Amino acid sequence: MALIVQKYGGTSVGSVERIQAVAQRVIQTVKAGNSLVVVVSAMGKTTDGLVKLAKEITPTPSRREMDMLLSTGEQVSIALVSMALQELGQPAISMTGAQVGIVTEAEHTRARILRIETERMERQLREGKVVVVAGFQGITASEDLEITTLGRGGSDTSAVALAAALRADLCEIYTDVPGILTADPRLVPSAELMSEITCDEMLELASLGAKVLHPRAVEIARNYGVPLVVRSSWTDDPGTKVISPARVPRPLQGLEIVHPVDAVEFDTDQAKVSLLRVPDRPGVAARLFGEIGRQNLNVDLIIQSIHEGNSNDIAFTVTRDSLNQAEAVASAIAPALRSHFDAAPEEAEVMVKREIAKVSIGGAGMIGRPGVAAQMFQSLAQAGVNIQMISTSEVKVSCAIDAEDCDRAIAALCETFDLSSSPVQMNPAGVPLSPADELPPPVRGVALDKNQARLAIRYIPDRPGMAAKVFGLLAKNNISVDTIIQSQRCRIMNGVAMRDIAFTVARPDAEDARKVLEPLVREFGSSELVVDTAVAKVSVVGAGMIHSPGVAARMFEALAKEKINIQMIASSEIKVSCVVGEESGVRALQAVHAAFGLSGSKKIEVPV
Ligand code: ADP
Ligand code: ASP
Ligand code: MG
Repeated sequence: MALIVQKYGGTSVGSVERIQAVAQRVIQTVKAGNSLVVVVSAMGKTTDGLVKLAKEITPTPSRREMDMLLSTGEQVSIALVSMALQELGQPAISMTGAQVGIVTEAEHTRARILRIETERMERQLREGKVVVVAGFQGITASEDLEITTLGRGGSDTSAVALAAALRADLCEIYTDVPGILTADPRLVPSAELMSEITCDEMLELASLGAKVLHPRAVEIARNYGVPLVVRSSWTDDPGTKVISPARVPRPLQGLEIVHPVDAVEFDTDQAKVSLLRVPDRPGVAARLFGEIGRQNLNVDLIIQSIHEGNSNDIAFTVTRDSLNQAEAVASAIAPALRSHFDAAPEEAEVMVKREIAKVSIGGAGMIGRPGVAAQMFQSLAQAGVNIQMISTSEVKVSCAIDAEDCDRAIAALCETFDLSSSPVQMNPAGVPLSPADELPPPVRGVALDKNQARLAIRYIPDRPGMAAKVFGLLAKNNISVDTIIQSQRCRIMNGVAMRDIAFTVARPDAEDARKVLEPLVREFGSSELVVDTAVAKVSVVGAGMIHSPGVAARMFEALAKEKINIQMIASSEIKVSCVVGEESGVRALQAVHAAFGLSGSKKIEVPV
């Protein structure tokens, strides 16, 4: 007999008929010989309705009262689902998060799960009942027994955490689309269903805007090896398997807050090419990386900083043996770029750094924990290491540094993150795997995040510790930062070398971020803070891209063809993200989806 956790989202329990359909499916699963825990969301758009009510009373409701309010939605649906089951003769019992014992930290509206008591559920299961649990909510461990919620979309996280705690054989997420698709079908109607995706890829997609799964749910599945499937509650089709690594015994205490970093990695075979002062217009990145791709050179990190006046800097890393070729391509292209740029006050320039190392921290526990990256920067600063490039993804933060600083950096990071195991030397980018290895596709899917804002600090002194200062301060104020980019260009002001740092945050955090950073910017003297809330981020994700030259180029070319200007570029091993103007977001997503041939033959139906 298997133990299965099934989660049904809002649309799947959006009406009496839908609740009855859910009850039928649950009963079928029980009849097939399984024990069942069912996690449900609030009906339909109930949670949105509650948020709206609160906003009508005050624009700044207290987080505690928001939790009190929003947690009611799920309480309605657990009772109704239980009744529907009982009506069909299936013994069932509903339980709130508090009744189960889903114990969380006391962070209202974004609480992380610390542990789940399983005893009461297990007793009910032994008695042959289906246990129907309210998703999205928990209770604090303190004597106050405060009700908390996990953050919007958090019922997925409740379900996977329950599956981990109960050591369930399977966790099924039932939703209103056939599974995980190559893009959001509401924006790209030709999106195609994937039969499977790895946890790392899904973590990226989910964090970059694919709301079909809550990123923290994927994090738990990865950390605890929970078998996870996403499928439609309308059909019996198998949906999408999210492939997690084999189940490893991990303590269930501190479930969502255990070791966020489980590895320090390094790669000493990198070199950096920067193209400074290229014109800020569509098509430039496409041209550069198109040529690099045609030469079959594999680029690793790519960043493009904010533009200053009318020009941008683009920098990328390659393996050292590709450097000469990459430099030649950049040098050949630079004059041509400049010649189209009439008002150029300065000349474009190619800059090369031969001996670069990349050090990374990796692990699936960094989402929504801005302190982790900040700790890395702090640790490098204390070791006197200057950071040249930063690239962040959901499972990794990488810094390009001088190769001669590498050993010091690794030692500092291992100590900071308490990793006694030896650091992992990376397979240098571009080394082909043996043909027998089955390569994952270069691009699995695309995502759009419309909820972004871009902040830039211009003219920060270029010395160790600056990134630590900026991101440490944001972390202290619980503001998560996404894409972080340091400009390549140094400008000498009053005898001090200055750089720019740009990054994106979730749009509701932009104002807070501005307030938090303003005093720091004043302290830097000649620095300046620029905020742009009208941006969107379009990303491509695929674990195979590191072995496949030309992925970034194809993305940039697709955007250039649409005449969409790229404001920022950031890449990691498994994703390339471009920040574009908000108004071109959806068009950018559609163009990129088409460029990678991800469209299926059949239109996906989505309930309205
Ligand atoms: P639920 O209420 O079941 O949790 P959500 O609305 O949270 O459902 O998530 C499902 C929605 O996610 C879909 O209706 C779809 O519009 C959206 N979505 C975004 N990206 C993707 C993707 N890559 N694959 C599938 N759905 C996606
Ligand atoms: N009802 C909550 C929300 O709408 C949680 C969830 O559906 O996952 O965000
Ligand atoms: Mg959801």
